[in-house]
Amino acid sequence: MSGTQEQGQVQSALFPTYARYPISLVKGEGSYVWDQEGRKYLDFTSGIAVNGLGHAPKQVKEKLVAQLDELWHVSNIYQIPNQEKAAQLLTANSCADAVFFCNSGAEANEAAIKLARRYHQKVLGNGRYEVITFTQSFHGRTLATLTATGQDKVKDGYLPLPEGFKHVPMHDTEALEAAIGEHTCAIMLELVQAEGGIVPVEPSFVQHIVKLCKEHNLLLIIDEVQTGIGRTGKLFAYEHYGIEPDIFTLAKALGSGFPVGAMLGKAYLRDAFTAGSHASTFGGTPIAMAAVIATLETIVNGSLPERAAEMGDYLMQQLQEKLEGNSYVSGIRGKGLIIGIECIEPVAAIISEAQQKGLLTVSAGPNVVRLLPNLLVTREEIDSAVGILNELLTAKAAVKQ
Ligand code: PLP
Repeated sequence: MSGTQEQGQVQSALFPTYARYPISLVKGEGSYVWDQEGRKYLDFTSGIAVNGLGHAPKQVKEKLVAQLDELWHVSNIYQIPNQEKAAQLLTANSCADAVFFCNSGAEANEAAIKLARRYHQKVLGNGRYEVITFTQSFHGRTLATLTATGQDKVKDGYLPLPEGFKHVPMHDTEALEAAIGEHTCAIMLELVQAEGGIVPVEPSFVQHIVKLCKEHNLLLIIDEVQTGIGRTGKLFAYEHYGIEPDIFTLAKALGSGFPVGAMLGKAYLRDAFTAGSHASTFGGTPIAMAAVIATLETIVNGSLPERAAEMGDYLMQQLQEKLEGNSYVSGIRGKGLIIGIECIEPVAAIISEAQQKGLLTVSAGPNVVRLLPNLLVTREEIDSAVGILNELLTAKAAVKQ
């Protein structure tokens, strides 16, 4: 039975896993979405970094519609030409040599953890299994990836957790060195901790991680699920650091809203993921691959990472200028078009008030307003969003005084 009646209220037929805002979104185009009542919102959430090309981007829609006329799904027991083409596009534009397609960020990270273990256990033959991650990190909601995640709130009520994960504080060199042991197979991190409050990792710390990985023969896994596909001003965030991870993971913006994830790795890892060692029914389905190819071609050919860098600089500069001296704001951080405004109090009220003024944003931890406009956002749209945020944050600062 759906929508059961309880004490006069219609009960949702959905599990209540999300604390949802009272807005029902039904249409999207470019930087804007519309609710059921026809109200228009400027979307600086972008499906939490999914709609990198904005809503219903023409180039992706055309390829998807054409694919719907051709072929929807075949099993991975057959060759899928567009899966190969999408993988070629990814490897040609990254440091990776091979790709495994799946359906989400958690699944991509799960594949990365499995590949790291299997490489050590089957190729190197050393039996290692432990992955070191960082406090405040977020890597997904499957049992392994929530265990990898460095935030207790996602683990509550899910005991027993799988073995083989250790967490150390970000930027704590000593703790990281102490955590490396005989079972360690990999170090895994986001280069801008996103759900953890928009925390860009210091380049010197990243270089130290790379050095430790070399010294101890560990694989470096970079979680690019939120930072990837141009958002930080490079196609992949690792490019800012001049490093080449052994493995990195993608999802969110990879299909412009069509669900798809990917785990990418270096050539020497091929021997670990042999036939039958890992699989996903829907991974790399022809429809998802049409979305990936159209998304990557649009982003790469349009130099959209560079555009994200330029617009990100403009957004950052406008925020710094307008919010300078605002006693309610304790910091503004980010890279490209992933920016957080840290406040001295929880930001839930500001996010709701911004919605009432027609601007959609999302928090990153309790005190940070996270801004994730699409890569094609205009200066006018940025001005409009900054205007609304400035008005709300100025009012909050005035109340506090
Ligand atoms: N990794 C990072 C950095 C993320 O931000 C997320 C989702 O927010 C995930 C992994 C999990 O992705 P998904 O929700 O697609 O499983």
